[in-house]
Amino acid sequence: MQNKAEKIVLLGTGGTIAGTSAQAGDNVGYTAGQLSVGHLIAAVPALGHVPLEAEQVAQLDSKDMSHAVWQALAQRVAAHLARPDVAGVVITHGTDTLEETAWFLHRALAPQKPVVLTCAMRPASSLQPDGPQNLLDAVTVAQSAVAQGVLCVAQGQVLAAEDVRKVHGYRIDAFSAGDAGPVARVEEGQLIALRPWPQAQALGLAAIAQDVAQWPRVGLVCSHAGAEPWAVEAAVAAGLQGLVVEGTGNGTVHHGLEAALHKAQSAGLRVLRASRCVAGGVVGAPTGALPSAGGLTPAKARVELLLQLLAKAST
Ligand code: ASP
Repeated sequence: MQNKAEKIVLLGTGGTIAGTSAQAGDNVGYTAGQLSVGHLIAAVPALGHVPLEAEQVAQLDSKDMSHAVWQALAQRVAAHLARPDVAGVVITHGTDTLEETAWFLHRALAPQKPVVLTCAMRPASSLQPDGPQNLLDAVTVAQSAVAQGVLCVAQGQVLAAEDVRKVHGYRIDAFSAGDAGPVARVEEGQLIALRPWPQAQALGLAAIAQDVAQWPRVGLVCSHAGAEPWAVEAAVAAGLQGLVVEGTGNGTVHHGLEAALHKAQSAGLRVLRASRCVAGGVVGAPTGALPSAGGLTPAKARVELLLQLLAKAST
């Protein structure tokens, strides 16, 4: 089902999809975030028939994503979704932090209309860029009257914000939804739903409205062989309010690090325990264990903790 009469808003933020290299065959030595979202639309003739509006919210390599851009992006998405003439929003984004932005937007806004992040692993100047097809597929999902929530579209797969994770640093099939699998597929302009659309409880724009310079500082430490408490101690000394520990296996933490985290938690630092495994998250919560991040990746757990601290501060 499609809302053909309704508008799709395309918000550009940069990334490899908007990247160019000096040599067309160079898929590595390029600069991300060079072409405007208008250029990306012009490269897909089929989009000429779609009522589109384009806006450049940022122009960066998503490895450099900032909280200020997240705040501006969430505000622009919310403003467009509130318009009755808008069916959905597409965001062009770098692949590196796409899953973090997706979780940020999903938890902040929990939109009833589709908000679709799309991307590319090859720059626009590539001999065979993957961006144009991903963009077209993303618009197909955004036009759907049934799709909802924050989604990622790449390589014909529609992945929920909760599940999406970058799992490959080079190949064009760089994203996975792990055990959950995709929520839908796009094939030749047809959206094929596979399971229910993701839902969430929106924290709301008020929670993220305060000056980003005042946002709580939340860090990430990794548990590994030979881990020592210095990273936790440095986080406490630097005045962080939250810390995610990227645990081994089912969220297990090296004893040197764990003792320091318990001590920091007793002193008021919020801690979440995630897993560094490529799939599976943290299952269960043994007595005395640090709070679990459940199925969230460490990077998304950091976003979650940041948002929880922001929501608390705004009430
Ligand atoms: N570094 C790039 C970015 O995240 C990678 C990409 O888009 O594939 O913006």
